[in-house]
Amino acid sequence: MIGGEAMKALTSYSRKSRAPRLDARKILDRLRPLDVFRDELPSMPPPRRDHGWVDAGICCFHDDHHAGSFKVNLDNGAYRCFACNAHGGDLIAFLRARHGYSFRETLEELARCAV
Ligand SMILES: [Zn+2]
Repeated sequence: MIGGEAMKALTSYSRKSRAPRLDARKILDRLRPLDVFRDELPSMPPPRRDHGWVDAGICCFHDDHHAGSFKVNLDNGAYRCFACNAHGGDLIAFLRARHGYSFRETLEELARCAV
């Protein structure tokens, strides 16, 4: 479970419950998609550029035997595999699909990386 002063910067208070909630936008703003992708994808080669779509190595969503189909976007965390059609628009979608996390679990996981 997360906690501490550093985490406060990543939470918002909802008017309804007055309970602090992790704020997806704040968390994503603090993360570099490259750091998350390199943690999650051991076969990812060092990218040739630092923005836009880059080769991500072996796809983690199908039984992939050769790199080349799986791309990730270093600007917004999107991902797409042209072989199995796995795709999503941000790091939250990526981690949910990869690990089967709930939205909340995903935010907690990313928040740990963001502090
Ligand atoms: Zn794939």
